[in-house]
Amino acid sequence: MSKAILGGGLSGLSAAYYLSKNLPNQSLTLIEASGRTGGWIKSNLRENGIIFEQGPRTIRPRGAAGQNTLQLIEDLGLSDKIIPILSNSPAAKNRMIYAKGGLHMVPSSLGALFKKQEPFTKPLISYLLNDLKTGRKRVQDESIYDFIDRRFGEEVADYLISPLICGVCAGNAKEISVKFLMKELFEYEQKYGSVSGGIARNLFTTSKKSKILSKLSQRAKREKWNIYSFTDGCETLPVALRDSIIGNNVNIILNTECKEIVTDKNKIILHLSDNKTNNVDHLISAVPSTNLGSLVEKQHPELAHFLKKLVKNVSVAVVNLHFAKDVLKNAAFGLLVAPREHLPILGIIYDSCCFPKNSTGTVLTVMMGGHWFQHYFGENPEETLLLDTALSQLKQILHINDAPIQFKVNVLHHCLPQYVIGHNDSLLNINNYINKNKLPMSICGASYHGVGINDVILSAKNAVHHLTTSAN
Ligand SMILES: Cc1cc2nc3c(=O)[nH]c(=O)nc-3n(C[C@H](O)[C@H](O)[C@H](O)COP(=O)(O)OP(=O)(O)OC[C@H]3O[C@@H](n4cnc5c(N)ncnc54)[C@H](O)[C@@H]3O)c2cc1C
Repeated sequence: MSKAILGGGLSGLSAAYYLSKNLPNQSLTLIEASGRTGGWIKSNLRENGIIFEQGPRTIRPRGAAGQNTLQLIEDLGLSDKIIPILSNSPAAKNRMIYAKGGLHMVPSSLGALFKKQEPFTKPLISYLLNDLKTGRKRVQDESIYDFIDRRFGEEVADYLISPLICGVCAGNAKEISVKFLMKELFEYEQKYGSVSGGIARNLFTTSKKSKILSKLSQRAKREKWNIYSFTDGCETLPVALRDSIIGNNVNIILNTECKEIVTDKNKIILHLSDNKTNNVDHLISAVPSTNLGSLVEKQHPELAHFLKKLVKNVSVAVVNLHFAKDVLKNAAFGLLVAPREHLPILGIIYDSCCFPKNSTGTVLTVMMGGHWFQHYFGENPEETLLLDTALSQLKQILHINDAPIQFKVNVLHHCLPQYVIGHNDSLLNINNYINKNKLPMSICGASYHGVGINDVILSAKNAVHHLTTSAN
């Protein structure tokens, strides 16, 4: 009996970890196309102990998925390597939006609801009242922009939600499904007629079942963590997972791309780049859904069609910069740009405010492109164009005229999946096809049940749970 995991990003490593714990006597192989595991998670250690995060940099501790990640971190022995951002720190409280040509603090207190604050033309409370006055519209799914515009008004959609979507998935709120981030709020409207009504009812009816929390989750709660990372950067997590699965006898094959997947009764034949084949009795695919679609296309064109149309992946340019001096006027997590400003950047993260190091200076990351990548930069922009754009935006928005003492420019091609309207139905079609045809295959990763670190770890855990429980 042998099983394979395709893809050595965080979801593939997590699937291999949970599988090797659940089925310790099985032969497990993880196949990865590139020369390393970790996928988009890359923490580059630079001069003076500075870390340039190329991909993710923070993790949320809350919710079931957040608690699951903390449990995993504890089990991997990484608890001491965590650096949290506490809820009362400026990096947790100060998040800014660039809109109407200026920087504005996102309201973060109850009192702020009653004050008129730029870029809004009314106090936020009046947008909330709008939700109470607006009738329900019965729809299956819609864009997160339309939902917010309908219930709270255009300004909330433009100046809060659209920048938020840029920060979460580099996407256009006008295309992203409301169920991607606001499934619960959408369901409140559909069920109770308004979002506020749903929240109020839920407050009184939700049973406060206490779940047993891991030690680390208890610590996160006690110390009021807002978000966290690791002292050596986010790559700490995939590195520890890799080491753990090697210790559990998982065979990791690098530099080997899967070219085609053939299903044959109760087995799967993987055609690999070195002209070899690998036969297994079950495959967990942890590669993007579009890649999986191409791999199964010859034999399962209908499944390939569903997989390929599930998400479109957008590219992001990441420019990491280190300045010798303190170049920031105030401490904050960073800023997001409202897309209606038509600027070529998505946002700027103040890394050195979030995780101060002993070394001097300021570390910033400018994120650019996403849904608008082609529009601003074309197919294959030169590094100098991206660096110059980042520096000129720093000048325009933050009035930073200094030259960086070190920098790194990376284009992450097709790195962030977009959960467009109808995502849940497309996902259902994929699962139905796999089940109906009894394919010995499971799917996990960023294309399916959420794009964040917590989501992909949980999707891997659930895929393994389903496989191991249905086998009994
Ligand atoms: C710029 C950026 C910033 C982010 N910031 C955050 C953040 O702050 N917090 C957060 O929670 N999340 C963040 N994320 C999301 C997070 O990084 C992802 O959810 C996660 O890394 C996805 O992991 P994955 O394993 O699903 O996919 P991937 O990392 O894409 O891994 C898939 C792997 O499969 C391999 N592969 C593909 N095709 C084949 C094939 N045919 N054969 C063999 N191998 C193959 C690839 O080489 C790759 O290694 C960010 C993502 C990006 C891009």
